[in-house]
Amino acid sequence: MTEIAPAHSDGDFLVPGWLQRLAAIGWRLLAAIALGLVLLGIATMLISHDISIISRLSDAVAVMYGGTVVETGPARDVLAKDKDIKHPYTSALLTSIPSAENIKGKGHLQAIEGDVLDTINIPAGCRFYGRCSRVTDKIRERCERQEPDLREIGPGHKARCWLYFE
Ligand code: SF4
Repeated sequence: MTEIAPAHSDGDFLVPGWLQRLAAIGWRLLAAIALGLVLLGIATMLISHDISIISRLSDAVAVMYGGTVVETGPARDVLAKDKDIKHPYTSALLTSIPSAENIKGKGHLQAIEGDVLDTINIPAGCRFYGRCSRVTDKIRERCERQEPDLREIGPGHKARCWLYFE
């Protein structure tokens, strides 16, 4: 998996333009190879942060957070922005894709706020709890203390979230 910081980033990690262009060529090449395999009917597993490539080439997807699958199902359901029933991490990912639609009105991309998971000391509750904006008073205690199972929320579509199992 590869993550590229924007060249204009004011953070402490700056990637030179030539490296970004090289990475972009690499991703295009990878996408072309994957497309070729798909067209040949060869089952292919892609692992990427690039949701636009994944959504174009995949029939089924699994979204992972903190080393575990938090949502899985048909790509058309999991990656559809207009479907409300999805894991909060998937929703946050979809609103952080660089696009005119996601920047509109705000002038910037929405970041996923909160504390990043400590993957050495995984907490007892939901792995996304420290960053989730959809916790309600009704489920807060369960979110904090008990990791939800991956359960069906639609035909062939599963999520690991207490919001759907109250
Ligand atoms: S289980 Fe709770 S903390 Fe985890 S994603 Fe769902 S609402 Fe958020």
